[in-house]
Amino acid sequence: MIEGQVLVASNDQWYWDRGVVEHFSVLGVKKWIDSGYPSDNNAVFSWSKWVPIKCNIFMWRMLMDRIPTKQALARWNINVGDGLCSFCEDQEESVDHLFSACIIANGVWSGIARWLKHQPFFFFSVADIIHEFTSSSWPPSKRFIIKGIMIIACWRIWKARNEKIFKNERRNVAEIIVDIKVLSFLWFSNRCKQGSVGWRDWQSFSFDVM
Ligand SMILES: [Zn+2]
Repeated sequence: MIEGQVLVASNDQWYWDRGVVEHFSVLGVKKWIDSGYPSDNNAVFSWSKWVPIKCNIFMWRMLMDRIPTKQALARWNINVGDGLCSFCEDQEESVDHLFSACIIANGVWSGIARWLKHQPFFFFSVADIIHEFTSSSWPPSKRFIIKGIMIIACWRIWKARNEKIFKNERRNVAEIIVDIKVLSFLWFSNRCKQGSVGWRDWQSFSFDVM
């Protein structure tokens, strides 16, 4: 990539990729954003307030295919071997495969659907996951809970994937689901004004939200 570049004896400078070439300033960034950029709707994701920021940021990046899956790493010319999914070793590890098509993700989503007393989820892409909690028939009082649970589910699937790759620890579907239930209860009951729910009611997902 640097072939053909000529280095000159001057100080480095910041340059914009869109704006007028001038000295970098925060004001310049603000004007640039206010002017309507970025306009890509795929980057729009409203956060779940009762879920920690790290999970929201993870979800936002995941939806834009900006997490280091093997497919993404290969796009950046990083050697990822056969590039197969670390769970099933059957398909290429893309963001859509890992969170929707993979046998582990499928198992997690069907366990979550049973827990929520909902018909089985059929996700074919990560966009379908968002679609479930933005335009589904969930009552508004429960929808914001479901959204948080789904964000946590994605985050924990990714964590299980990393533990398999970096520690060679294999998590099964049941363990991941328990993990999601416990963490979501902890955060919902401690970080949310409406979170006065007991563990038993949370486990059976039978409670009313004020
Ligand atoms: Zn897989």
